Amino acid sequence: MLIKRRKSRAVKIGNCLIGGNNPVAIQSMVKCGASEVGRSVKQIRELEDSGCEIVRFAVKDIADARALKKIKKETKIPIVADIHFDYRLALEAIDSGVDKIRLNPGNIYKKKEVMEVVAGLKAAGIPLRIGLNSGSVRDLRSRNMPDKLVNSALEYIKIIEGFRFHNIVVSLKASNVLDTVSAYRKISKLCDYPLHLGVTATGSPFAGAIKSSVALGALLLDGIGDTIRVSLTDIPVREVYAAKSILESLALRSFGHTLISCPTCGRCEVDLAGIVRELERRLVSVTPKLKSRKPLRIAVMGCVVNGPGEAKEADIGIAFGKNAGLLFRKGRPVKKVSYLDCVDVLLKEIAK
Ligand code: SF4
Repeated sequence: MLIKRRKSRAVKIGNCLIGGNNPVAIQSMVKCGASEVGRSVKQIRELEDSGCEIVRFAVKDIADARALKKIKKETKIPIVADIHFDYRLALEAIDSGVDKIRLNPGNIYKKKEVMEVVAGLKAAGIPLRIGLNSGSVRDLRSRNMPDKLVNSALEYIKIIEGFRFHNIVVSLKASNVLDTVSAYRKISKLCDYPLHLGVTATGSPFAGAIKSSVALGALLLDGIGDTIRVSLTDIPVREVYAAKSILESLALRSFGHTLISCPTCGRCEVDLAGIVRELERRLVSVTPKLKSRKPLRIAVMGCVVNGPGEAKEADIGIAFGKNAGLLFRKGRPVKKVSYLDCVDVLLKEIAK
């Protein structure tokens, strides 16, 4: 099955292009204040290493807006300033050299204020995300949340277009899957601006990853979505890993390797969950070094019933028996590997 992507305008955020024929970009947020420059830069480096392509900062006050200048000097990744309530923070963030501004139409809506921000964006040549959230949507005329989100976005788009500005990205995040999917499906037919997908306030990391996968998966399968953020109550890099898994599972992007493993059952005689956890953790640290390499499919299977079959179909696979496994490469058995060395051996095979 091929996903036919919605045609959208291309928008440039620093060195990252979204929309048009560009790949669906991954973004996340730094989870400390921008004024804590050292911590912010550390989080950005971790995000970059994990494969994040755009980072966003909540800009709470003027100190945060000004600190972005220092952060920009020390980092390369495109930075988005997330502005609520006070439009002057957007102007200050633009002065600091950010690559995109996000405004919330629910709390910055006075025409004069919006016009000033748009003038700043035009002068800096950077885009605006019109970022609606179900928690702060102002529309009182529509009956249901998807309509409220869509109508508020369209109204705001009209105001911005009235200033002859079209360098726009749109997001319509609700806190539940059905409203989110419905809102994005509607707006996707009513404008050609790139869409930033996300579900807001998703809950625990496990529930959040599932909610985001269902909503974003449904939309991406429809060809809707140009950049995604998986919101998790967790460290930022986990948002990136979740986003990568969603895009890989739909064959929209490939990030170097795919790890598959069986769920285990009574036939499994090794700690397969422990092996997979360790392999996944160590693969993350070698992934940046493998960027230029062809993506691999790695199978880790718990027994000899389905194990060898799956392992043979992978580029590299291992099927375990009691305390040892049989290693496969391109479908051919290579050697017997002890349970204790198996992760080291797999990593060596991957690096070959
Ligand atoms: Fe069970 Fe073997 Fe299947 Fe794993 S591969 S789920 S251990 S039968």
